[in-house]
Amino acid sequence: MIKKNLTCISCPMSCQLELTIDNGEILQITGNGCKNGETYARQEFTNPQRVVTTTVACHSGLWPRLPVKTVAAVPKDKVAHVVRALHGVEVEAPVQLGQVIMENVAKTGVAVIATRSLPQTRLNNSCENP
Ligand code: SF4
Repeated sequence: MIKKNLTCISCPMSCQLELTIDNGEILQITGNGCKNGETYARQEFTNPQRVVTTTVACHSGLWPRLPVKTVAAVPKDKVAHVVRALHGVEVEAPVQLGQVIMENVAKTGVAVIATRSLPQTRLNNSCENP
């Protein structure tokens, strides 16, 4: 029997969870302030997932980078693949909040969307990162 400690990241309370595990099975979960912590602990133990947030380059926009995120969590071991797939992506302004930037990123079946609208700059300057 082993103990495993996790910090629940489902809300800002950051409850410290303790899992009691035997033969790969969770016997007990303690430390959670609500039921969501138990759900998080089971997910994290069996198939950890994360929503990926990052930015991509934007041309002709008011700002040079567009914030984006996956619309759903992807397997934790795919996070680096998602980031690599988005590296070098360049979009043209204007961009609308929720606009799909990439479908099926890194073959996860999950899309990446813009998390804010980005208007075109009036001067139409190039806005690539240095
Ligand atoms: S267990 Fe519940 S209260 Fe605690 S951090 Fe997770 S979601 Fe928040």
